[in-house]
Amino acid sequence: MSTNYDVLIIGAGPAGLTAGLYASRARVRTCCLERLPSPGGQAALTGIVENYPGIDEPVAGLELCRRMERQARSFGLEIISEEARNVTISDDEIVVHDAGGSIRSSALIVASGTRSALLGIPGEMDFLGKGVSYCATCDGPLFRDQEVAVVGGGDSALDEALFLTKFCKKVHLIHRRAEFRAVKVLVERVTSNERIELIKHSEVKKIIGTASVEAIEVKDAESDEVRQIAVSGVFLYVGLSPNTEFLRGIVETDDDGYIETDEDMGTSVRGIFAAGDARHKSLRQIATAVGDGALAAMSAARYLEKR
Ligand code: NAP
Repeated sequence: MSTNYDVLIIGAGPAGLTAGLYASRARVRTCCLERLPSPGGQAALTGIVENYPGIDEPVAGLELCRRMERQARSFGLEIISEEARNVTISDDEIVVHDAGGSIRSSALIVASGTRSALLGIPGEMDFLGKGVSYCATCDGPLFRDQEVAVVGGGDSALDEALFLTKFCKKVHLIHRRAEFRAVKVLVERVTSNERIELIKHSEVKKIIGTASVEAIEVKDAESDEVRQIAVSGVFLYVGLSPNTEFLRGIVETDDDGYIETDEDMGTSVRGIFAAGDARHKSLRQIATAVGDGALAAMSAARYLEKR
């Protein structure tokens, strides 16, 4: 199959959907590729969003993303369920290859986001789906009235630890340092939540179980004491990795694989733009992703006009 679009967007998270909204309203023929059955990316996996402007009542990340999708589609955005495998450039056209063939477009907006980083400890892969999870929104309800551990000290770990207290009897929040990286309002909330036990300057060394998770082995960095904590679930939030492998060698990235852009979201290749969390940037939020998406779409439209 070979299809032609003016703008092809990879990824239907907040950045991609906003780019799709703006490009569709600019009446450029736009299509968005999304590998998952449901749009929204990482934002859709966020239990509750309360820091996106205009949301005066907390909203589930999935619901917010569904609204973004409906809005973009209402202006004509086409969304195709496919995974971009690699990108080539031919005759001034950008060709995105997926499992079903290739799609050609004049401009490309990469909004492929990030995925959860792995902790890389024994048991992590053995118990994936058997107690180890990277998504409290998806798996939290499975641990009703049980004890779980959350690992990490950023916004994701604290947000999701709070979300898990809706279901779980107790949440052990384990962080390798004494200071949290997360925003202060979340630190205040986890500190005052009776269902959360904070275990600071400690690292999880091993996940233990038979058929499913039964315990974790935790080492205190100050005393070197190693102890086991009985939990039936472990939620890992130790950072992100960019979904940019399919672009390797095409556009410039930083050492971690995040795409380098200029202030108009242009990459090192003419006609290829990037938006959202996959971009090298200092703040990864829904609010910053949608700003990137709007700017990338308008930059792509200007690029098409000039051609
Ligand atoms: P993050 O900010 O990179 O935090 C990762 C956490 O994991 C850090 O506390 C880090 O510890 C810890 N960590 C990293 N490697 C580790 C290891 N090997 N062992 C133990 N701990 C380890 O990642 P994130 O929380 O997923 O957030 C990613 C981005 O999304 C951020 O920009 C964040 O602001 C944004 N976000 C925002 C919201 C919101 O606004 N509500 C919600 C979720 C995410 P150190 O602190 O010691 O480095």
